[in-house]
Amino acid sequence: MPREISLRSAGRILLFVVVVYCAIAAAGAALLMTRIEQEAIATREHQIPQILSQTRNAVKVERLSSLVRAIFLTKDRRLERQLQLQIQALAQGFGFEGAVSLVDGSREVANLAKVIVNAHQGQRDLLANQSIEQPGEGAPDQSTKDLIAYESAMRIIDSMGKEVSGNSALVADDIAGGIQKRAVAVRYLVIVVLSVPALLVAVLLLLARRHLAAPIVAAIRNLDRVGNDETLELAKNRPMLRELALIGDAIVSYGSTASELRRTNVVLQALAETDPLTELANRRTFEKFLIAAIQRASPGAGPAVLLIDIDHFKAINDRFGHPTGDRCLKSLAFLLANIPDLANALPARFGGEEFVLVYDAPSADHALEYARFLCRKIEQLETESIDGAIVRFTGSIGVSFTTSQTTDVTGLLERADRALYSAKRSGRNRVEADPVAEEGDPAQGRSQRFT
Ligand code: GH3
Ligand code: MG
Ligand code: MG
Repeated sequence: MPREISLRSAGRILLFVVVVYCAIAAAGAALLMTRIEQEAIATREHQIPQILSQTRNAVKVERLSSLVRAIFLTKDRRLERQLQLQIQALAQGFGFEGAVSLVDGSREVANLAKVIVNAHQGQRDLLANQSIEQPGEGAPDQSTKDLIAYESAMRIIDSMGKEVSGNSALVADDIAGGIQKRAVAVRYLVIVVLSVPALLVAVLLLLARRHLAAPIVAAIRNLDRVGNDETLELAKNRPMLRELALIGDAIVSYGSTASELRRTNVVLQALAETDPLTELANRRTFEKFLIAAIQRASPGAGPAVLLIDIDHFKAINDRFGHPTGDRCLKSLAFLLANIPDLANALPARFGGEEFVLVYDAPSADHALEYARFLCRKIEQLETESIDGAIVRFTGSIGVSFTTSQTTDVTGLLERADRALYSAKRSGRNRVEADPVAEEGDPAQGRSQRFT
């Protein structure tokens, strides 16, 4: 059998096996039944007539026996004569239906009957003479003669009887033997006919379990693994049924395509959410984050927005070149990315040389304080230029804080932008909070000069 086989071929092989098996079983049964029928015909035509013939022979032997007994016992001459005629008739051969030994035996018996009759006649003649001459002489000789003949005849009849019954027994035994032989053959045929399909079904079940159920279960498990993004388990042995092997292959290739897509998706998502230069979140991600932060904000502790803009960045680009400008952007991004101890913080690149930091500030004061701290940190940053020179720069920060009036992203950003503009106008390197919105807040209505 080839290593791989299609379901259709497997079905054809199975059908072929079943058809061949049925044909063999039917032929075997027909052959056996024909043999049994032939045996039955032979029994009816030969053995049963033989038994009947032996039964008739037994009756005749019995009759011969009673005739001989009667001829021995009778003293009547006429009766003797009739009995002798009957014995002779039996012995003529037609009486024993071709059984040569019986015919020979009966002829001998007929001769002995003749001897008995003659002995009787002798006795009668003797008695008649004795009664005339000297009674009591010669009678004992004649009497012994008929007794000897009688006994010989009975012995022959006895052996004839034994032969007849022996023959019957042989024929009956022959019939019984034949029947028994056929019964055994039928029994074996039935056992084989029934056990072969049972064996075939058992083998088929085992094959189905190994080559059908197991690969299907493995395929289903692998499909689950594809769904759960787990590593696929490759079967040690390739399924024997071609269709299942193809399904297994398809699942494996589907799995590798799916994980490739997942990897690509992760990369694409990262690209869509981050800024490639600084690797910080981009503006889109920041805005989504801010919406969520506003929604989950508890009263009095909403998100604060710190909008950071590098001062005179154009001048840095002009003086040190664009690549060095990129380095400055990266060093500020690194500073923001490593901000400690802020609740739900997200630093992001807002665009160009502008950055933004959002976090859940416990108060507007906290936001202002933190912005000042950040302003100092920016001032302290030292970035190495392409030429190896140290570049320093400062930043201006506009701060806005969630209030009862301002709870949307646009409002927060506008306020932070206004504050940033104010910081720029007031000389840069400083922090300003939006003066309009911070009602009831210590920072309300004033721009604070950062020192
Ligand atoms: P101000 O203090 O008023 O903010 O002045 P500024 O020069 O920082 O502001 P301006 O808007 O005049 O210039 C911003 C500059 O930032 C202009 C632009 O070339 C530069 N820039 C924007 N994006 C990048 C970038 O990705 N890399 C570099 N190297 N420069 C950038
Ligand atoms: Mg700017
Ligand atoms: Mg600027």
